[in-house]
Amino acid sequence: MSYTTRDGSTWMPEYLVSIDGGTCIGCGRCYKVCSRDVMHLHGVDDEGEVLGKVIEGEDDDFDGELNRMIMIVDNAGACIGCGACARVCPKNCQSHVAADRLAA
Ligand code: SF4
Ligand code: SF4
Repeated sequence: MSYTTRDGSTWMPEYLVSIDGGTCIGCGRCYKVCSRDVMHLHGVDDEGEVLGKVIEGEDDDFDGELNRMIMIVDNAGACIGCGACARVCPKNCQSHVAADRLAA
């Protein structure tokens, strides 16, 4: 399958498929640049267990269990592969897969 931009130029979408929770610092930069609501901040406890999604505007410490926050890809199917999230991540903890490899 071939992919093109509006003017017909070749374009290969690079879909975000995962984020390494061990290296993600939960800075939120990827979330801010993404227009597709693909990922969300989640709270994590001391053992690395995911406590749940952090709701914007709420100061939820998950009943004192919160250790840190990480970004999780929880809506991968909405990604259009624009690559904006990869450009702003300071920790290089995201994995992207080219559209032709996913389709194969
Ligand atoms: S590649 Fe683009 S659409 Fe996909 S998650 Fe990153 S910023 Fe969002
Ligand atoms: S930009 Fe990178 S380090 Fe920051 S929240 Fe997103 S994946 Fe994590």
